[in-house]
Amino acid sequence: MAKHTPMMQQYLSIKADYQDAFLFFRLGDFYEMFFEDAVKAAHELEITLTSRDGGDDRIPMCGVPYHAAKGYIETLVERGYKVAVCEQVEDPKAVKGIVRREVVQLITPGTMMERKTMDEKTNTYIVSVTDFADGSYGIACNDLTTGENTATLFRGTLEEVILEVHSLGAKELVVSSTFPIESIQKVIQQLQIVVSLEEDTAISDAFQPLVSKLTQTKLKETFGRLLNYLLKTQKRALDHLQPVELYDRNQFMKIDVHSKRNLELTETIRSKGKNGSLLWLVDKTKTAMGGRLLKQWIDRPLINRAAIEQRHHMVETLQDNFFIREDMKESLKEVYDLERLAGKVAFGNVNARDLMQLKRSLMQIPTLKDLVGQLGNDYADKMADSLDACPELTALLERSIKEEPPLSIKDGDIIKEGYNEKLDEYRFISKNGKTWISELERKERELTGIRSLKIGYNRIFGYYIEVTKSNLASLQEGRYERKQTLANAERFITDELKEKEAMILGAEEKIVQLEYDLFVQLREQVKTFIPRLQQLAKIVSELDVLQSFATVSEENHFVKPTLTDKREMFVKEGRHPVVEKVLESSRYVPNDCMMQDGLNIFLITGPNMSGKSTYMRQIALISILNQIGCYVPATEALLPVFDQIFTRIGAADDLISGQSTFMVEMLEANNAIAHATERSLILFDEIGRGTSTYDGIALAQAIIEYIHEHIGAKTLFSTHYHELTALEEQLHALRNVHVSAVEEKGKVVFLHKIKEGAADKSYGIHVAELANLPKTLINRAQEVLNSLEEDAPVASIPVQIVREVVEEKKKEEPKADILADDQLSFFSTAEEKPKKEEKLLSKEK
Ligand code: ADP
Repeated sequence: MAKHTPMMQQYLSIKADYQDAFLFFRLGDFYEMFFEDAVKAAHELEITLTSRDGGDDRIPMCGVPYHAAKGYIETLVERGYKVAVCEQVEDPKAVKGIVRREVVQLITPGTMMERKTMDEKTNTYIVSVTDFADGSYGIACNDLTTGENTATLFRGTLEEVILEVHSLGAKELVVSSTFPIESIQKVIQQLQIVVSLEEDTAISDAFQPLVSKLTQTKLKETFGRLLNYLLKTQKRALDHLQPVELYDRNQFMKIDVHSKRNLELTETIRSKGKNGSLLWLVDKTKTAMGGRLLKQWIDRPLINRAAIEQRHHMVETLQDNFFIREDMKESLKEVYDLERLAGKVAFGNVNARDLMQLKRSLMQIPTLKDLVGQLGNDYADKMADSLDACPELTALLERSIKEEPPLSIKDGDIIKEGYNEKLDEYRFISKNGKTWISELERKERELTGIRSLKIGYNRIFGYYIEVTKSNLASLQEGRYERKQTLANAERFITDELKEKEAMILGAEEKIVQLEYDLFVQLREQVKTFIPRLQQLAKIVSELDVLQSFATVSEENHFVKPTLTDKREMFVKEGRHPVVEKVLESSRYVPNDCMMQDGLNIFLITGPNMSGKSTYMRQIALISILNQIGCYVPATEALLPVFDQIFTRIGAADDLISGQSTFMVEMLEANNAIAHATERSLILFDEIGRGTSTYDGIALAQAIIEYIHEHIGAKTLFSTHYHELTALEEQLHALRNVHVSAVEEKGKVVFLHKIKEGAADKSYGIHVAELANLPKTLINRAQEVLNSLEEDAPVASIPVQIVREVVEEKKKEEPKADILADDQLSFFSTAEEKPKKEEKLLSKEK
């Protein structure tokens, strides 16, 4: 260290405390980085790497201008890094030697307050987890931008905990150093979650009110860890943190992460974007807060029948009152993000424009309150009553802040006339001074007879009288003192002007300082309203989501479902709302789902692309829409309340580690079988497809039997193994249904219509024929099929038959190329690819 300059020594001692972050070290108008930081930052940010003298070696260095730092910090944090912002905390003019510097904030992926890419309708969460080594985990979750805090005690495996953290959408995980992080390192990396350490779990007195609802010390400990991490990184008061809300996963319908993805609830599988998801379809919210709440509701559908019915009832009321609803929307449009505004106020980075937005938002509340009160529904009345427009705050802001304030809070022009006497006085002086100066200009012109004489102002020289060189002779001797010489003019000052200048500039300086002070005071006053604003935000967002449901339900012809405690489900003319939207509704074929008590399993057959998985998804989405309180896409619906939904649909999307498709399929099947109850909904799409035919049929049958005998969950099971349809005869709670398709003028036409009974077996061969498979092969397939139909029991298809089909294919080898995956999948009796079958055969030998 000794070889370094005092400043570098200061840098190194600060950097020692922030090893895992980029240290942005303030030097005048720049933030500089040194050593490793500089090399890495230059690479990440594509800025020039330079170096400075550092004794024996040169020290790598790079920097960004302070006014542009925000963007650079954002880039680094988005990429999962942390940035420690180190400022000069003394006025350089006031000290001799080295200015004191301190890190004023550690910006991390989970605590980024503002960023360009921040989706205003998505929360940014940071989560802490404590492992209590008894199978239970404490989870505490915070959104620093809104101040929201939640906590839950979780029982399950470590992997489940991490998936829960991921499903919360968390960017950062805070744990103690004893947390077994190594065992889940891979998942954490895949999910791009940043891990931070915090040991301190004590909650100081000031924050006790936040945890008043937490009775379990385990949760207090977990939240304490999170809180201390926030305090240490943010280094400020955090007055906007809200009391911790306890949540229990058992209060909500459980949908595991895989199923959420498969069903494309909040993002689509392919694009990972919101477009095309259920959220996208139902989001007609007008406020950012409403958008965030909607996402939370979709993530956690209810299981309490009364609560669901209350939402339905609100949707109904809002539908019945079209004009009120339209007015509500207009009003909601004017309401800004109160939660994030409150967060900015607490953080001290709110500007006058934000406060103006706050005022305008508050001014909408009386209108909104009035409208909601007119709905004439008990729950709406309750909401109207609790809408608190904070009139004192509105009045205060109305008195204090100008209508069109500038962005900067340091240049004045923020505070209204009449708010502060002193300010008005300075303004009077400044304004009169300016009038006096223009008067002086007129007098000087008269006195000298120079018509081009003018009085101007610049920052360096202050006020001056400017006379062109050709007119200099007209000036009275001794009265003018020379200040500056230009190419063709001279600038002068007079005693009189000097005196006024001092007054005007003095006043202006005072104005700017006083306005800033007044603004800071005002901000402190607004702080005291934060809890009320947060409460208001909650009600406004709920109203917004409910109006969104009413609007979407109306536009898309959804109906109000009736709930039942029986284990039955009747959906008439149900639709997949997103597919319908994308297809344009005229082409979507609606389908019923009639499952009375005692009928639990639909075994769905039908050719590929006929609509099996769309049908299954449609049932799941209808159930979810129902349980978030929205209407459902059908003409009539009587629905049970499902406790959980399990799916095994579509492309395997392996979240955990590079397991094979088949393995993932089995894991998901197991997950359903292990956790489903008779109140659950299970959707299995072509389970067993990932292995050989026999394995596949055997497993599929065993799974169906198990669900039938031991679980009793409502289950939709699609398959292309026609052999399974024979199960209907043995299993009383199982029904065969199929998706119909017909051949018209040599073309397959999918009707997308679900019908009773099993699919026509010969149909697959028909499709194969249309796909131009060799004639001999088709004939052989027909033969095989006939013999199958005649006798062979389900579990004993002779290996010989498969072998013959393969032989047949080999004969046609040159043409066999057209058996590309897609076409082949039409061909349901001999669906295995040649390679797999050969493997199967060689095992048999
Ligand atoms: P499968 O699971 O049987 O292979 P999908 O459910 O994936 O078939 O459906 C294939 C395509 O058929 C879908 O992408 C959709 O465009 C269309 N489709 C499915 N169901 C319907 C329907 N009820 N009405 C109109 N089109 C449908």
